[in-house]
Amino acid sequence: MTASAYRGRFAPSPTGPLHLGSLSTALASFLDARAHGGAWLLRIEDLDPPREQPGATGRILASLRAHGLHWDETELFQHDRMAAYERVIAALLNSGDAFHCTCSRQDLHLGQGAHLPACPRSRTPPVGESAIRLRARDTPYRFADIFLGEVELPCPTGADDFVIRRRDGLYAYQLAVVIDDAEQQITHVVRGRDLLESTPHQVFLRARLGLAPVYYGHIPLLLNAQGQKLSKQNHAPALDDMRAPQNLLFCLEALGQLPPPPALRDACARILDWAIAHWQRALVPVQDRVVLVGSASTEH
Ligand SMILES: [Zn+2]
Repeated sequence: MTASAYRGRFAPSPTGPLHLGSLSTALASFLDARAHGGAWLLRIEDLDPPREQPGATGRILASLRAHGLHWDETELFQHDRMAAYERVIAALLNSGDAFHCTCSRQDLHLGQGAHLPACPRSRTPPVGESAIRLRARDTPYRFADIFLGEVELPCPTGADDFVIRRRDGLYAYQLAVVIDDAEQQITHVVRGRDLLESTPHQVFLRARLGLAPVYYGHIPLLLNAQGQKLSKQNHAPALDDMRAPQNLLFCLEALGQLPPPPALRDACARILDWAIAHWQRALVPVQDRVVLVGSASTEH
């Protein structure tokens, strides 16, 4: 693959404003793309309306701009993509690769992957609510990660046939991500380690849909003092856009990158130019990091 063919992306959910953890992910995907002469695209993953916060999308876009993280092309919104997801599901049902299922995750776990006798496992919907699962034997639980090298995940019992449309009718994350990565012609997915376990399913689904493989890279999470991932649920403070250069420097350090010289630290554009030129995948830490939010230090 030539460097110019690189297409990366950042795909936040508008459940709240960005925080240092999501900025770190945005920055890693941005730097890896730009350092390889690639495009960097934006996708708003607004699949789950009850979890979304009014105004969050606008705040996310404003924060990215304030930090100099300018994306290419028009951003893609998942709420515009329902017809595309439905077409793929219809095709998978039609080919027998997907089926309606009334089993819970626990049923399948207890049955070591066997469906309950009452489960229709059929192309046609049963009376009442059902999820749609993809038949997914031989999911590749081994893959090469950009930052972690060869990764081998334990094969979860009974979890191979994964949900592509939920019982409540919402499209599953795995399905939407794969179809939208294909729509945006993404070649490199750089994201947080919390999504590592999703990767085998996405690799499998891509192959099943006849899509070319993509490269996956998972960066360490930023944890709070309690060892929890920085997130809206854990009350991670929203990014202060007035401190954009300091925020970028903080995230560069968390990503293990060399700090720019003092003369280049006062403006986002200068920090980013320097960071693109000096981006080193090998320096990205493997371990998640505890950060003392509000100070400028990180520790292992
Ligand atoms: Zn079932």
